[in-house]
Amino acid sequence: MRVVVALGGNALLQRGQDLSAENQRDNIRVAAQQLAEIHAHHELVIAHGNGPQVGLAALMDAAYTEVEPYPLDVLGAKTIGMIGYIIEQELGNIIPFEDHIVTVLTQIVVDPADPAFSKPTKPVGPVYSKAEAARLQKEKGWSMAADGEYFRKVVPSPLPRRIIEIDTIKMLVDNGVVVICAGGGGIPVAYDEDRKLFGVEAVIDKDLASGLLARDLGAEMFVMLTDVPGVFMDYGTPVQRVIRAAHPDAIEALDFAAGSMGPKVLGACRFVRETGNMSAIGRLSDLKEIMAGRAGTLISNDIDGIVYGE
Ligand code: ADP
Ligand code: MG
Repeated sequence: MRVVVALGGNALLQRGQDLSAENQRDNIRVAAQQLAEIHAHHELVIAHGNGPQVGLAALMDAAYTEVEPYPLDVLGAKTIGMIGYIIEQELGNIIPFEDHIVTVLTQIVVDPADPAFSKPTKPVGPVYSKAEAARLQKEKGWSMAADGEYFRKVVPSPLPRRIIEIDTIKMLVDNGVVVICAGGGGIPVAYDEDRKLFGVEAVIDKDLASGLLARDLGAEMFVMLTDVPGVFMDYGTPVQRVIRAAHPDAIEALDFAAGSMGPKVLGACRFVRETGNMSAIGRLSDLKEIMAGRAGTLISNDIDGIVYGE
């Protein structure tokens, strides 16, 4: 079976952990154990988030004031290289010596007319005081939004339209190579009037980007791994219940948190509708059980309505 596995940003850096290289490597080593088992039985494609990492890159960038800050697409590329390198090495160290694994820097086309560009929502980089935020807004034209008592830069999160490197990725996967791609939701790019690509100051949602990747690769299964055992109904309340399985129409009719579970459910439903194949959302440590249908939330056309767990 061809499987696209999307690793959440927290699979690479747990919430509250400091952003050291050592912590990232330790977490990726744990993820690699799970991924190696899937690789042993299936064609594996790995996508991943980069939220914490791109935030760190922005902080480092802001600390050196001799040059203008680097644009977000370039910082995105930098983190994707870093994460891809560590996954390649940690997974490469435990899978058979003859097996191939490679990272493909992935550019994803967005539509400059996407309504998301007129309404930036995705927070990136460090926090600023109100006064600093006002100055940056004026001097650099950044959009700033409140994040608790501080302010952060917010950027647009347009929909992913087309994966530039898709044919290359397909060639590699068809030939048995484990491919790490669409990292951080891909690097957002667009075409100018002369049909030349340029980088765009935006962040594509990694769940929507990896769903598109899974569809384009003809994956039989699309799995999103995060730090909760599945999708919950009434999440965070005393009556929360885990959803074991659902039909896309049934789960999409429910309301999920915009910045976190919402895009996962949306990405899963789109993939299932467009391909007729299955998608699942669950915890990294449960990957094997999720693949066997014994853990996580399964989204499939074969399910009638919603099936709740205990
Ligand atoms: P990732 O990096 O894996 O994409 P996110 O923070 O975007 O992580 O999404 C996972 C988080 O979504 C969980 O840690 C949980 O706190 C939150 N969440 C919000 N709503 C729900 C829900 N209905 N069911 C489960 N988790 C939810
Ligand atoms: Mg997320």
